[in-house]
Amino acid sequence: MPQPIVGLHHVTAIASDPQRVLDFYAQVLGLRFVKRTVNFDDPGSYHFYLGDDSGSPGTILTFFAWPGATRGSLGIGETSALAFAVPSSSLGFWEQRLLSAGIPVERADDRFGDPVLSFGDPDGMRVEMVGTADTVDVHIPRTSDLPQERAIRGFYSVTLCEAGFELTAKVLETMGLRKTRQENNRIRFAAESNEPGRYIDVLVQTQLTYGRMGAGTIHHIAFRAPDDAVQLEWRETLAEISLNVTPVLDRSYFHSIYFREPGGVLFEIATDPPGFGIDESTESLGESLKLPPWLEKHRARIEKALPPIEMPHLKAGSGHD
Ligand code: ZN
Repeated sequence: MPQPIVGLHHVTAIASDPQRVLDFYAQVLGLRFVKRTVNFDDPGSYHFYLGDDSGSPGTILTFFAWPGATRGSLGIGETSALAFAVPSSSLGFWEQRLLSAGIPVERADDRFGDPVLSFGDPDGMRVEMVGTADTVDVHIPRTSDLPQERAIRGFYSVTLCEAGFELTAKVLETMGLRKTRQENNRIRFAAESNEPGRYIDVLVQTQLTYGRMGAGTIHHIAFRAPDDAVQLEWRETLAEISLNVTPVLDRSYFHSIYFREPGGVLFEIATDPPGFGIDESTESLGESLKLPPWLEKHRARIEKALPPIEMPHLKAGSGHD
């Protein structure tokens, strides 16, 4: 068996307004805009990456920004929520910060003993903050006004909405995660690591129909491989349990393989290297449009087709409590 998966690498969602989604995640949630590029499979639209100061694996939230995209609907076969980890002592701070930014937020029921805040992003995507004593050190974004003890510490978990869980469990267990807990219809799988994003919850919701991809939905979730060799071993192992896995694709900042797990959610395994420093310095991450070598010759046309955006600016007056 290849080296077990340690957790999530990134989560990719769909947004309908490039500037609005950047402003929300950078200004309100304090993530750093670490890469401005295009969707390599559809270079007419933006692909944004946000994360900790350098965009470390386990902190990276990415968006396909499709202006005017219609909203998707939540249902079976989708990742129905993304949860960030924050120190438990900062949950009240976050509740206030979200409310003062005009975002309705609710204190959900405790989940496996941890308090949870739940709110929608500008496209209605379900975002959660889990207060935990068990946070991981990440590089706090230099662009954020948040004090160290409040800032987001990367991902906590994702929730997969499914009609059942046994076949999905088999895949997660093959990947090295273990079923650790169950609370009603929520079943938790955990990677054996101390890395951010090590929990995958499967929420069994038999009453729902299949979801529809669109703005406000999560397109796929990516798990980590430490290098290309381990990724290839995973490709073989997953093919052996009858999953159709794509060939390795070059995403510039990591290399990727994709497959659909039996419950319908699109999974990816992405390599940790080379990371976002490959084509710009850490100081200037996100400031200019970066294209992979094979699209560079079309730069003029691509830039003309993309809507202009500004770097998200800090929200004056927030962040002090
Ligand atoms: Zn991806």
